Amino acid sequence: MSDRAGDYIAGLFGAEDELLASLREEADRTGLPPIAISADEGRLLQVLLTAIGARRVLEVGTLGGYSAICMARALPAEGELISIDINEQHAAFARRYIERAALRSRVEVRVGRALDVLPSLDGHRFDAMFIDADKEPLPTYFEWALRLVRSGGLIIGDNALWGGRVYEADDNDERTRGVREFNRRMASDPRVTGIIVPTHDGVAIAVVR
Ligand code: MG
Repeated sequence: MSDRAGDYIAGLFGAEDELLASLREEADRTGLPPIAISADEGRLLQVLLTAIGARRVLEVGTLGGYSAICMARALPAEGELISIDINEQHAAFARRYIERAALRSRVEVRVGRALDVLPSLDGHRFDAMFIDADKEPLPTYFEWALRLVRSGGLIIGDNALWGGRVYEADDNDERTRGVREFNRRMASDPRVTGIIVPTHDGVAIAVVR
């Protein structure tokens, strides 16, 4: 996608309200990694969750809570979003903004290593799982998504293009390999029907069959 196309889409669909703009500004100012999703990716998540009538969503990788707030806004009042982050400070930051967004009743941030927290959710059913965390374990996250997401629900992975590294044949970094393998499964695992949408860093989306 050309830069002009990206700019056009962001201009139309990437408006940020005051709360999200202030979250992003404070995150940048206080040294959170500048890797939150973009505003138009937030809109993409909202379209997807609304389309499937999502009520329960699981997120791996809270960071400052930007995507959690976007997604929780697409849930009904009694909806529930559980977001996992390994970093206590990120979780505290996110909780503060979730409170400001009046979404505390809908969003729970759990602190821990996702690979340790996910087994505690075994037996739960989610309408969607958004994966935006460390890249090495992506194939394992994919397997957890298949366990936890209902049939007809969505598995969504951020950074599917990984800054272009996924198609650099000589890039054998462990994270790149994780993203590649995740994408390969989204493309060819018979249990899902998937695609990558070319947002600025790619969002992989699959429906569980
Ligand atoms: Mg990301």
